Amino acid sequence: MADIIRLLPDNVANQIAAGEVVQRPASVVKELLENSVDADASEVHLVVSESGKTLIQVSDNGKGMSETDARMALERHATSKIQKAEDIFSILTKGFRGEALASIAAVAKLNMRTRLRGSELGTELKVAANEIESQEFCQCPEGTTIKVQNLFYNIPARRNFLKSNQVELRHIIDEFERVAMAHPEVAFSFEHNNSELFHLEPSTLRQRIVNIFGKRYNEKLVPVSEDTELVKLEGFVGKPEFAKKSRGEQFFFVNHRYIRNPYLHKAVQKAFEGLLLDDSHPSYFLFMELDPARIDVNIHPTKTEIKFEDERVIHSIIRTAVKHSLGQYNIAPSLDFEHDQQYAPPPPTHKNVEAPGIYIDPNFNPFDKKPDSSARSGSSALSSNSGSSSFGGSGYSNPRPTSRESQQWESLLSQIPEIPEEAEQSELIPAEGLNKVAYIQVGRKYLLKAHGEGLMLIHQARAHQRIIFEKMMASLANQQVAAQQLLFPVQVSFSAGDFSQIKELLPTLREMGFDLDEFGQKELIVHGIPLFLENPDLDQILHQLLEEAKDYNSHSKEELQEKMAAEMAKVAALKVGTVLEPQAMAHLVDELFGCSSPYISPEGRPTIINLALNDLDKTFT
Ligand code: ADP
Ligand code: MG
Repeated sequence: MADIIRLLPDNVANQIAAGEVVQRPASVVKELLENSVDADASEVHLVVSESGKTLIQVSDNGKGMSETDARMALERHATSKIQKAEDIFSILTKGFRGEALASIAAVAKLNMRTRLRGSELGTELKVAANEIESQEFCQCPEGTTIKVQNLFYNIPARRNFLKSNQVELRHIIDEFERVAMAHPEVAFSFEHNNSELFHLEPSTLRQRIVNIFGKRYNEKLVPVSEDTELVKLEGFVGKPEFAKKSRGEQFFFVNHRYIRNPYLHKAVQKAFEGLLLDDSHPSYFLFMELDPARIDVNIHPTKTEIKFEDERVIHSIIRTAVKHSLGQYNIAPSLDFEHDQQYAPPPPTHKNVEAPGIYIDPNFNPFDKKPDSSARSGSSALSSNSGSSSFGGSGYSNPRPTSRESQQWESLLSQIPEIPEEAEQSELIPAEGLNKVAYIQVGRKYLLKAHGEGLMLIHQARAHQRIIFEKMMASLANQQVAAQQLLFPVQVSFSAGDFSQIKELLPTLREMGFDLDEFGQKELIVHGIPLFLENPDLDQILHQLLEEAKDYNSHSKEELQEKMAAEMAKVAALKVGTVLEPQAMAHLVDELFGCSSPYISPEGRPTIINLALNDLDKTFT
């Protein structure tokens, strides 16, 4: 049989190798930006069209290349950054594998103009499908400009794998931000489809973060700094109260290289333990500097994963340093979120707050459609000699129900401390029976009522969310969302990355009752808001809605609206910690039972819990 093994031609080998390095337009952006930084540029400009599918161009004022180097740079395994294998253990540049330019040239049309510092003339190279089409002298500024066009033009399958322009742009922005953050001393700009997304002057790290992510970040950042023999750690973490639901801003850099590391991520999470709500994530921007001999950067083609020799020690240094910073900024003690609390309770304003009591409208039945308003008006404070009457019911005088149900009821009431004494005991329980007893607010959070042979507990905040949510979905369905105009329009600013995404959301936001427009490069101006949002923090709401939408990229418009309505319901709803008048409690429950799904919040959590007598009995054993 004939021999069948052949060497692949260079261009095919390069195309295959390119698959590892160049997965999408963002990979090209990353490699080119990194090369510019490696060439000691102090200014780097990125120009992109159609999310990189037609054009990606990076120009720098770095050291440039000689005529020969320009040609060599395009060969596979051609690099100026290492000479022998051990060199990668002392590497401080981003690149060293010498395959980026060769890979890019294998899957796109590439044009390079480069001029060595101090040289009279530059070189221009044109390459297509890995073949150099021409090389000529040219007039060009010192430094290098590389233009990559029609990415994957010769690999249709790859091209078809690319996601929507919005998704690809997001990836490019991510890569740009990572490089720009790693080098605040370098000026970067980024133009997409002729509009400038970023214009970053050389600055401190803090300013760079703020310039990238928006002015709001200035007040969010807590510095972290630790210098040990093994590692120098610098950077910032976000204050816990600004933690986001999406995993947005989480960055580790090692020797100015962005890396991902789930283990070290856990170290930060540990430091934040107890300070965050269940579903929120801390932001962090942490820079490590350590001896390159103690890491291995060559375990992944794109080098975003690296191996640390002393991972566990670094883990504990990070955890301690972050914890220390949070403590130092007095963050740890000032926050005490409860498990499912969505917002810190607002300062109590209700007059009855100082003397916790139980408020009963004895004639009110929440399940009557029209409560009897002719009956005794207002509420009376329930009084009981707390503690001493656990089971006997001695705290109450007649008339009162005699069933076992009422014993349970009484036992529960009697456990609630600090009840004012002046109230008439005879008014406590109405003769009509327990069904007539109104709700008791427990912990300014739950509404409690005897129900059947047990207890019913309603989560007031979630109940209200459900009510608002259903109203909102109904008005969306009829396309009749009530809106109100703002007296003074409000401006809300975004990071460039977020702005490109919120722009896509504008039609949806308008349908939901917002009246808003783009304003400049990165701001929205809000003229009107949905009616039920009273005095909202628009900055917060719009950013929250955006976060919500980020997770739902590929879903239908209806699903997105549902998510956003749920988010708005959360913002507009009563907060945990709000003291409610009896009438308000009754009204809330009434409305809740008027909903089509009263038992779950828009986020799918329980709103009502029934404790059967059995359950109660069990807890008393
Ligand atoms: P690597 O960065 O791993 O060395 P690349 O394929 O990215 O491999 O680049 C090959 C070589 O081309 C680099 O080592 C460098 O010498 C040169 N080079 C690439 N881009 C630039 C640039 N913008 N300015 C100067 N030299 C560059
Ligand atoms: Mg490189």
